[in-house]
Amino acid sequence: MFDLIIAAGGASTRTKTAKNKLLLPLSGRTVIENSILPFLSFCDLNQIIISAGQDTLAQIKTLTCPLYDKILFIEGGRSRTQSVANALKHVQSKFVLIHDGARPFITPEVIQSVLSGLEKHEAVIPAVALTDSIVYLNGGYKSCDRTQYKAVQTPQGFLASKIISAYNQTDEDFSDDASVYCQSFSDIVVVDGAIENKKITTSSDLMLPQSYAGVGFDTHRLVEGRKLILGGVDIPHTKGLLGHSDADVLIHAIMDALLSACGERDIGYFFPDTDPRYKDVSSVELLKKVMEILSSNNKKVWNVSATILAQKPKLSPHIYAMRLNLSKLLDVPLERVAVSATTTEGIGNTGREESISTIANVTLI
Ligand code: MG
Repeated sequence: MFDLIIAAGGASTRTKTAKNKLLLPLSGRTVIENSILPFLSFCDLNQIIISAGQDTLAQIKTLTCPLYDKILFIEGGRSRTQSVANALKHVQSKFVLIHDGARPFITPEVIQSVLSGLEKHEAVIPAVALTDSIVYLNGGYKSCDRTQYKAVQTPQGFLASKIISAYNQTDEDFSDDASVYCQSFSDIVVVDGAIENKKITTSSDLMLPQSYAGVGFDTHRLVEGRKLILGGVDIPHTKGLLGHSDADVLIHAIMDALLSACGERDIGYFFPDTDPRYKDVSSVELLKKVMEILSSNNKKVWNVSATILAQKPKLSPHIYAMRLNLSKLLDVPLERVAVSATTTEGIGNTGREESISTIANVTLI
């Protein structure tokens, strides 16, 4: 079991925002909520201790209480070190993880690495390699070998008794807990952190990762004697879509949107209808290939939103199954996969039930 301390006492002088940076909005919640949420899926979590400044304690309480039922709120001290020292007095578990309240991009993978490290070691911290060049400026300009340095992140994990002992032996202020720990002990183990697990220091840190939008459109003719497959879901109907592949018009439009957002050519280029390999192929298999192209471009899907234009059949009973399929195929949470359907009020090719079309929008990060 482990306790989690959230150091939430920092002033917001560097973000240059009137509001405390922990209370700033981020992805529909606040920074502090995002900093806590990824820990809640770990069943070994015993309790959370939030150490916050007097001015924001009430607001942080209101925001975080609905997230988890075992949160202890304590008033922070004059510095981060003092605030964590206060929080450590309430730790009940054998292990404690200490996390900055201003690190909202923490990933479950990093948390797991720290917890796994604690199975064998007594102090485990995540860190990442430096990408900028490093210079030492003390009476001159001396370049440094950046491979000899790492940037340290949180959560930092410790055997509770040892970090408490280390804190009891110092009155100095430090910027992290490993620095306090290594005043008394030297057995710190470093595991891989994550580039995205950055600390919110300036307001520009809150800008979302660079994103890429893409749009795709496709139409197929509706004929008798073919299956109707949309989003990989077999839909009972008297007609189906005609095409070289299974003519899944929803997946086709999404693939074109994905390729477009990558700045790549369209699906006709990658999967030409003159190629016998793609005769009657499931579009799900083609989408898997497109996902490989995305990976090779170092991009991931953030969300997808598609509208199917079909006069018949009624698609609403099948929307959830399509979203579920796409969520798995695109490796994106269900809530970021939207599929809607509309008729065209009997107008045009679609209205006359001669065709079904789809428009898709995607955002990649
Ligand atoms: Mg097509």
